[in-house]
Amino acid sequence: MTNDKEIRTHNFEIEFDSCSRNEAFARGVIIAFLSELDPILEDLIEVKTAVSEAVSNCIIHAYRKSDGRIHMLCDVSDDGYLTITIKDNGVGIENVEKAMLPLFTTGGTERSGMGFTVMETFMDSVTVTSNPGEGTEVVMTKKLDVGYV
Ligand code: ATP
Ligand code: MG
Repeated sequence: MTNDKEIRTHNFEIEFDSCSRNEAFARGVIIAFLSELDPILEDLIEVKTAVSEAVSNCIIHAYRKSDGRIHMLCDVSDDGYLTITIKDNGVGIENVEKAMLPLFTTGGTERSGMGFTVMETFMDSVTVTSNPGEGTEVVMTKKLDVGYV
């Protein structure tokens, strides 16, 4: 059977304050954006959890208690190829490889050091680029299980 429907891509870009309430805001935004594609629940839960982890890292680590802005860019195609970028202009990460190891944290006993591991578990790829003093960019991709194509 042939399917000559054109595959379109959809994207958005937003910027919001670094404050704890915006972790839930970012989760809500990604769910609303992806819902049009009629994704399976498992994908929605995994993507929103990964977004939550990346955004909470900006709030907790990048800006600590200071004010800052968090950028979120998303791009998805009708056939389910999703790319999410979460960026901050905070303190940055000295050693990205070490920061991404399970259980590594600079957050003391309050944190478990599992955020990047959760992102890697739930997404197909996670790429982190960071410059100390300038900020951090996390790019995550995932092929969603959508009905079309
Ligand atoms: P958890 O996510 O389990 O609560 P955590 O945030 O410490 O704990 P990860 O999310 O895996 O664990 O992050 C590991 C470490 O990487 C952090 O402790 C922090 O030092 C550093 N880090 C992560 N994201 C950023 C960021 N956006 N800016 C600065 N440092 C970061
Ligand atoms: Mg974390």
